[in-house]
Amino acid sequence: MTDAAPEPVVLETVAALRAWRAARRAAGHRVGLVPTMGALHAGHLSLVTGLAPETEAVVVSIFVNPTQFAPHEDFTKYPRTFDRDLELLREVGAAAVFAPTVAEMYPDGFATSITLDGPARVGLEDAFRPTHFAGVATVVAKLLLQCLPERAIFGEKDYQQLAVIRRMARDLDIPVTILGGPTIREADGLAMSSRNVYLSPSERETAPVLHQVLQAAAAAVRTGTSIALAEGAALRELSDHGFLVDYVAIRDAASLAVPAPDARPETLRVLVAARLGQTRLIDNIAVVG
Ligand code: AMP
Repeated sequence: MTDAAPEPVVLETVAALRAWRAARRAAGHRVGLVPTMGALHAGHLSLVTGLAPETEAVVVSIFVNPTQFAPHEDFTKYPRTFDRDLELLREVGAAAVFAPTVAEMYPDGFATSITLDGPARVGLEDAFRPTHFAGVATVVAKLLLQCLPERAIFGEKDYQQLAVIRRMARDLDIPVTILGGPTIREADGLAMSSRNVYLSPSERETAPVLHQVLQAAAAAVRTGTSIALAEGAALRELSDHGFLVDYVAIRDAASLAVPAPDARPETLRVLVAARLGQTRLIDNIAVVG
């Protein structure tokens, strides 16, 4: 019975998180961390349940991180649904929620940021949101060091972000195993996202085309179409449906670099970012699999 689960404990300070974490360690529990910005949906919840086999206690952070939004982006109107989030997390058995204030995460005089290269500089999200990954990496590094979980999990939905965080954790010797979770989709293929609530009814009808175009591009490459032609066809198809495309690119799945023209399809990922009206959507799939 789902409603028998206890409410997750809500932690609002780093000190409270550390005390909770110490108690879990004393109890012999492995801790898993799921960083989120709240407005939770089934994609987020799948990350919580994905950690269950490998951890005894999962903490979900809910923090709308101002430093990963550019001034023109949606920080102030980003959906905030804390009470509902807490209820959903109770249903999936999360042990704790870490919900710090901006002042708790960025106290007066805060002056540190992580500088990134490698998968953070490949001309995808970084080309269109140049300050985004520094904000993400800095806040994720803070969360990992505040919590020191055995495992932390991130969605493949944000594929470049996952690559950036894996690289950062390895490069900074943060003692955590980073896991990736598969993208959870609506029945019509649209990747779940907290931002989907911004779509108007007609945009929502068009939005699944994004996933269809990824699938068509992947199928084309699998059957021998060149990467350049597959990318070009995808761009045209999206534009014809009214998307303003930031990029649609077929890249090496591990490095996100531009692949050699004869790269094996198994090594490739197709990634897209496009705007429908005011809403920016991203998605990606493996070319094979
Ligand atoms: P966000 O709250 O959007 O910052 O996302 C928090 C985490 O949930 C990130 O690791 C995302 O990649 C992941 N996530 C977001 N949407 C999905 C989805 N549809 N399926 C799986 N994971 C997701």
